[in-house]
Amino acid sequence: MAPPSPSARLTVLSGPSGVGKGTVVAEVRRRHPEVWVSVSVTTRAPRPGEVDGEHYWFVDAEYFDWLIANGGLLEWAEYAGNRYGTPKAPVDEQLAAGSPALLEIELQGARQVRERAPDAQLVFLAPPSWGELVSRLAGRGTEHPEVQSRRLALAQAELDSSGEFDVVVVNDDVARAADELVRLLTAPPSGLPSSGSTAGGAPE
Ligand code: ADP
Ligand code: 5GP
Repeated sequence: MAPPSPSARLTVLSGPSGVGKGTVVAEVRRRHPEVWVSVSVTTRAPRPGEVDGEHYWFVDAEYFDWLIANGGLLEWAEYAGNRYGTPKAPVDEQLAAGSPALLEIELQGARQVRERAPDAQLVFLAPPSWGELVSRLAGRGTEHPEVQSRRLALAQAELDSSGEFDVVVVNDDVARAADELVRLLTAPPSGLPSSGSTAGGAPE
């Protein structure tokens, strides 16, 4: 069997609700349609404009239970009253084909990936400030105020976890953050020299 390509890397993007993960990933896909992004399953109801199979696979609790029981999820978590999980088979196929794969998931899921796939690269998307995070979450206007409060309570713990991640990207500007994420997606694992580079990956 051929050795895995250095670009066949699993990258996890995480960060608090409202920081701009969806926006940055959409910008990456707009510029680089070839970037493969996992479509999660969730028990959350679709927001206006969300398309089944594109933004998420919207499933009921019974089907989610079935996926867990049958080993169909690489990771899953309950977040703010709903469950979310990454279908395992498409990620395995992507990596087996030698191509990078990107997951956009919350903190508990990122920790599970770290345990199950220690080579995965964990990227934390951080807001420029707490005030900016609060105004982005409120400005999105997709959650009732009590749901926003629940998400902000979780956000504080998520920000405190940023030290567990390999890289922190500050989402001060969508285009800049998207560029940085694309660079990370195709960067060789730290320790392997990249072509044209003399350094052995990012410092710890
Ligand atoms: P997440 O997926 O992390 O929950 P979203 O992508 O839905 O967050 O973004 C939350 C809100 O913040 C959206 O209204 C989005 O337009 C806005 N936003 C995202 N990135 C930026 C940025 N760099 N500067 C200003 N507003 C942003
Ligand atoms: P939202 O409801 O705003 O779309 O997502 C809520 C949170 O769930 C976000 O932090 C998002 O990154 C996370 N999320 C989305 N899909 C998954 C998944 O498959 N697994 C985990 N653990 N979290 C996910």
